[in-house]
Amino acid sequence: MPGALQIDADFFDGRSAHAHRVRLRRDGDALVITGDGVEQRVPLAAVRWPERTRHGVRVAELAGGASLQARDAAAFDAFAAHCGRGDSAVVRAQQSWRAVAASLAALVALVAALYVWGIPAAAHAALSVLPESADEVVGDVALRSIDAELMKPSALEPEEQQRVRDAFERFVDAQPRGSIPAHRLEFRASRIGPNAFALPGGTIVLTDELVKLVDGDTAVINGVLGHELGHVKQRDGMRMLLQASAVGVLASTLVGDFNSLLATVPVVLGQSAYSRDAERRADAESVALMRAAGISPAVMVTFFEKIAKEQGEHRLGIAIASHPADAERIRYFQDAAAQR
Ligand SMILES: [Zn+2]
Repeated sequence: MPGALQIDADFFDGRSAHAHRVRLRRDGDALVITGDGVEQRVPLAAVRWPERTRHGVRVAELAGGASLQARDAAAFDAFAAHCGRGDSAVVRAQQSWRAVAASLAALVALVAALYVWGIPAAAHAALSVLPESADEVVGDVALRSIDAELMKPSALEPEEQQRVRDAFERFVDAQPRGSIPAHRLEFRASRIGPNAFALPGGTIVLTDELVKLVDGDTAVINGVLGHELGHVKQRDGMRMLLQASAVGVLASTLVGDFNSLLATVPVVLGQSAYSRDAERRADAESVALMRAAGISPAVMVTFFEKIAKEQGEHRLGIAIASHPADAERIRYFQDAAAQR
């Protein structure tokens, strides 16, 4: 893939509203923009790629008010990653952590005091003042590690991925405005079997095996993704991390070195599980989202029945299938379905 990736976009010169249809490709350290009277080479360092937003049009800003817009968000995100937005994750991690360290330092007293009253309370307090950019950094670190150890690129046909993406987009669009946290869907083949999980910062990974297990039924997949959106919304991954490494957070803050703390991210997210309460809230979110989108919560009963028979060769603590549903959980979705 490297080198060959090109995408179409609309170029705006910043002076007129006229959209120039252009083609984008990367050439070394430059972004090459060609077509419809436009011929530009822009240093990649001068491109401001859009933040990962939940969906919709992507806009990259260039110098002098010019901009590039693309309607195919997934393709554009892939292209942005190809142009190095993703490459700098570790660099960004360190830069952001320096900023985060400053805000965390202010928290030390608070957290230390609350620590006396209990770790969950301290984690909750820390979470409320910790900027969400920290979640993204942690999520990037976690995804890299999980990718290296448990994942392979998805083998699903691009059309199938797009079909699932489109259905998920419609599911999200059916929700009240502003109720859905920033997120992004990633497909992977995995060694954790049919599964799905959310990382801090909103990356949701869906395994090929899960899509196949439910025969590509997007109602079921949306129910599962709704559950994962619940974890994102509640920042459960960060919460768990802060609880598991409360001592580490304090220590790292005092010495100003977050690398050792970041090193614990994969271990915590891989081996710990969300609390029962966190799972209940995510299930409740899933039911609410399914209702708004006209999907019967009964699909989740079927899902948990299917998944109970399938386990991957490896386990990932935060993933949905790592803890097969108990009777109470099944009954929750049954009751929700009956109340429709
Ligand atoms: Zn869960």
